[in-house]
Amino acid sequence: MTADTSVASGLGIYVCPACKGHLCQEEGALRCPTCSQTYPIREGIPDFIREELSQIFTDTVIALREMARVMKPGAILAVFTFTAGRGGILKFRRAREWYRKDQGLHVFGLPEMEQYLTASGFKDFQPEVSGSILTFSALKQ
Ligand SMILES: [Zn+2]
Repeated sequence: MTADTSVASGLGIYVCPACKGHLCQEEGALRCPTCSQTYPIREGIPDFIREELSQIFTDTVIALREMARVMKPGAILAVFTFTAGRGGILKFRRAREWYRKDQGLHVFGLPEMEQYLTASGFKDFQPEVSGSILTFSALKQ
C-alpha cells in the first residue's frame, strides 16, 4: 500500500471541523489558514480527529462521558470493541495479555462495559458477542 498524502480531488468538500474555514492542501496535510489547525492525510483520507479527542479514548469513562455530552437523551450509541468471548483468539488469557502489552488493546468484560456505560450516563446496554468481537448499543439517559 502506498502512502497517498493528497486529497486534491475532494478538497472542495472539506471544511475545518474547528472553525468551518476553507482548507488548504499542504505536504501530507490539510491546513486551516483561519485557525492554523492542521489535519494529516493518511492513505488519501484526511484525519479530522483532533489530538485532544484521540487522547480521551485511552480512558473509557472519559471517552463515554464525552460521547454522552454531545448526544440527545434517548439517542442510541453503537460501539464495536473487543471482549474475551468464547470463540475468538481473545478467549485465551495469554493472547489478551499479549495484545494489551504489544498493541495497547483493552479487552472489555461485559459487566465492566455495562458499569462504564452506567457511570457515563447510558442505559439499556444491549451486547452481542461474536467470537472476540463485542458489538453493543446503549441509550443516552
Ligand atoms: Zn479552522
